[in-house]
Amino acid sequence: MSWMITRSKFLRQVALGLGAALMVAACGGDEQAETPTGTAGDAAPAGGVLRVGTEPAFPPFESQGAGGELEGFDIDLMQAIGEQANLEVEFESLPFDGLIPALQAGSVDAAISAMTITEERAQTISFSRPYFVAGLAIAVQEGTADVAGLDDLEGKRIAVQIGTTGASKAAEISGAQITTFDSAPLALQELANGNVDAVINDAPVTLDAIASGNIQGLEVVGELLTEEYYGIALPQNSPNVEVINSALAELIANGTYAEIYQKWFDAEPPELPESAF
Ligand code: GLN
Repeated sequence: MSWMITRSKFLRQVALGLGAALMVAACGGDEQAETPTGTAGDAAPAGGVLRVGTEPAFPPFESQGAGGELEGFDIDLMQAIGEQANLEVEFESLPFDGLIPALQAGSVDAAISAMTITEERAQTISFSRPYFVAGLAIAVQEGTADVAGLDDLEGKRIAVQIGTTGASKAAEISGAQITTFDSAPLALQELANGNVDAVINDAPVTLDAIASGNIQGLEVVGELLTEEYYGIALPQNSPNVEVINSALAELIANGTYAEIYQKWFDAEPPELPESAF
């Protein structure tokens, strides 16, 4: 049992590319036979555990099924990346605004959570290549006549999810009264209850909440406010950036990415750029 813990800790370090440095410390006597092999600087470690943070209240990207199991586009994609890169993915549920601190503290190795690649975030963490094209949209109660775009939200009550690009966009609107929530469904519910005038949130998520009937009486108005790319987030300069990027490139090339996209969005995926900026 104690061997299991040591081994799993060791494998985790291998996933982080620190295998060579730790081998001396972690391997004693007859455990050597179990040591995974890998070359220093190898883009695909021979095996290991990748702890991946996610905030599972953002369907169709990540949510919890009836039995509490994680499901969604991001979950399937991350599992496929793990299989491709020979890494065992272990998900950990965290609040969205806790994901970057967890990466910085090293308590998770990566995060997949419909996270937009932004210049600001890229100063403190690293991102994989873009894996999804999204954008922000305004939601209002059905039949709202006076909101057609961002300018119409001046002085209005807006609900957003804390720490998101939607929250940053709302902060730019003059005179707006902003209420923040821990999750997007809570912000949308506040709008459905009539306590705010609008929600600014990722379009695919708001549209899914409406289409699935999870939230009733809302509609999306106007054009997308932004074009945003989602990326898998990693600690700054993590060796796993390259591991994940190669796996992702392979899944895009071999059709697995398109299959997962079809499953969750019932459509052909768009072309993805290799970099967000
Ligand atoms: N894409 C948005 C962001 O990165 C929202 C992500 C989320 O709430 N999971 O801020």
